[in-house]
Amino acid sequence: MNLVEEMNKLTASIVPCSAEPLVYDEELCVGCNRCADVCQVDILIPNPVKGKPPVILYPGECYYCGSCVMECPNKGAIKLQHPLMNRAKFVETRNPSE
Ligand code: SF4
Ligand code: SF4
Repeated sequence: MNLVEEMNKLTASIVPCSAEPLVYDEELCVGCNRCADVCQVDILIPNPVKGKPPVILYPGECYYCGSCVMECPNKGAIKLQHPLMNRAKFVETRNPSE
């Protein structure tokens, strides 16, 4: 059996988790997969449907680094949704130019 046949046998399913670290806007996302490529913990995989946002395979493993959001060429196509525990520690900042 060659490599392609072996790859075709692979299946993946989303590992359930109460956290929802990323929110995609399907109107803005073009499915370029740059966010999936840059994720250092590889929790995203390309969507089997071309042009659709990547699948968040391991939502519980996101560490909210924001690299995926920064890499996205379409502002607003992907947003981080921090868990409540993180949000309680947020500190309001001011733009230094104001
Ligand atoms: S925030 Fe960081 S760890 Fe989470 S999906 Fe994006 S790149 Fe990966
Ligand atoms: S980088 Fe942006 S446009 Fe590309 S797949 Fe990710 S969310 Fe969609």
